[in-house]
Amino acid sequence: MSKIEWTDKTWNVITGCTQVSPACQNCYAKALTKRLQGMAKKGCKGAEKYIKGWDEVEFHTDMLGHIFNFNKYHSGHKVFVNSMSDTFHDKVSYSHLKMLFNVMGARKDITFQVLTKREMRMYAFLTEHTELLTPNICVGVTAENQAMVDKRVDWLVYMKTEVKRFANKDIKIFVSCEPLLEYLDLSAYINELDWVILGGERANKKGRVMEFEWVKSLYEQCKEASTPFFFKQWGDCEKIVKDSLKGDDEILAKAIENTKDFPNFKQKGGK
Ligand code: SF4
Repeated sequence: MSKIEWTDKTWNVITGCTQVSPACQNCYAKALTKRLQGMAKKGCKGAEKYIKGWDEVEFHTDMLGHIFNFNKYHSGHKVFVNSMSDTFHDKVSYSHLKMLFNVMGARKDITFQVLTKREMRMYAFLTEHTELLTPNICVGVTAENQAMVDKRVDWLVYMKTEVKRFANKDIKIFVSCEPLLEYLDLSAYINELDWVILGGERANKKGRVMEFEWVKSLYEQCKEASTPFFFKQWGDCEKIVKDSLKGDDEILAKAIENTKDFPNFKQKGGK
């Protein structure tokens, strides 16, 4: 199982990335890639693809076939695609993106979760290649602050509308508010979203603070709109936040952290 609670497994076809927004400040993939590069240099099995390190974005075509390992990727699994990079990084060519989405389309018994911080490139590619959007693929963006809601979520929702208009396809879209860095108003989009994930920042005990009021507000926005809400974790500020809560807020915090909704993923032949 993956350590990322909202998925079952990760599938990493791309290595390396570039930081693009405040959410990237303490990127775990960057730190982990450096460690794995060190291991690759020592000849450790399994770490080979990280040999070029963080600064070189590389698409590993040999990793595509791994998704057909049915012992690892079971029917019904949720698979987070490229947790160690960003699928829509501008160094990933359209021909590689086509290969990746074709392979996802070939395993319709798996739900693929594609999360990006490059919303415009995702929009450009997927509205041009709507034929690659099979019902088992859901796409999302990170929105850690309001500026990213106004930009990234706006493009995401627009893409959903355009895919419906041009290809008559309903795609599942989600937003990951992790690390949540401020109060977010999702009201303009909440009814269009299929899923909201929320999490604090973990960064060697130096994660930025996530205030309870921001968490409470997002939870309430989702509840009111009946949008599935998944609380991942408080991050490094867990103790500070929880120690500050009293009475009803304490009870609500427990209810929030136990809310782990999933949307109704469409799979063929899944569990
Ligand atoms: S886009 Fe993702 S993988 Fe790339 S630097 Fe930002 S957080 Fe890290």
